[in-house]
Amino acid sequence: MVTFRVVTIFPAIIRAYVGESILKRAIAADLIDVTVHDLRDYATDKHKTVDDYPYGGGAGMVMKPDPFFRVIEEQWPDRQSRRVVLLSPKGRTFTQDRALSFSRETRQTILLCGRYEAIDERVREALVDDEVSIGDYVLTGGELPALVIIDAVARLVPGVLGDSRSSAEDSFSCGLLDYPHYTRPEIFRGMTVPPVLLSGHHSEIERWRRIQSLRHTLERRPELLERLEMSQEDRKILKELKEEST
Ligand code: SAM
Repeated sequence: MVTFRVVTIFPAIIRAYVGESILKRAIAADLIDVTVHDLRDYATDKHKTVDDYPYGGGAGMVMKPDPFFRVIEEQWPDRQSRRVVLLSPKGRTFTQDRALSFSRETRQTILLCGRYEAIDERVREALVDDEVSIGDYVLTGGELPALVIIDAVARLVPGVLGDSRSSAEDSFSCGLLDYPHYTRPEIFRGMTVPPVLLSGHHSEIERWRRIQSLRHTLERRPELLERLEMSQEDRKILKELKEEST
């Protein structure tokens, strides 16, 4: 089972999200396990202080090292069975490939959510195995990044989605962006569904979808095509799409 342990000063944010919809069902079915640990419970003073002024001065507060060391050493003392992940804009960017590797992780994944200006650097030096960013922007805390990771990873755990093809066909999973989807009604405000999708002809539907995926990727994320393992047919389609656009 994929296990996430989230360390945060806002446990309600994590609990609210994992208590709904697909994640709620995945947890109930024992496909993933998420526990939330309030960092303030590991503060030693009566005010449950988790932050302090920065040495050297400057803006903002810094999260103290002691509560992080205490929660990790008390809850997960065995280094071999844990992988401590610090959420940080300075980390390596989270991608679908990394989501896949998290979904195969056998150790407990411990997600440390920062707040304020920073976390004392000694936490990273002594405890952290991996530093992950969800993109080149700065959020107020690590809770949304933790949930982004849990959500993206859960979709890849066998049994979490009703139909495993859903995640296999998602954008990025096969190296391409997803194709367009339609549902009823057939005509909506004068806009129609591409006739091939109504044809019942499976191979033609597959081919149309592949063309659309290649088209969207070429138009929006052409750099993804450089890493794609292409069939002869893909190359032919791409050549035609490029000619079409010139
Ligand atoms: N001063 C830090 C910097 O510039 O790198 C930003 C601190 S941010 C206000 C507070 C916390 O939010 C961080 O410690 C981290 O846990 C989380 N965070 C913010 N943006 C993030 C991102 N893009 N990816 C992952 N975590 C992020």
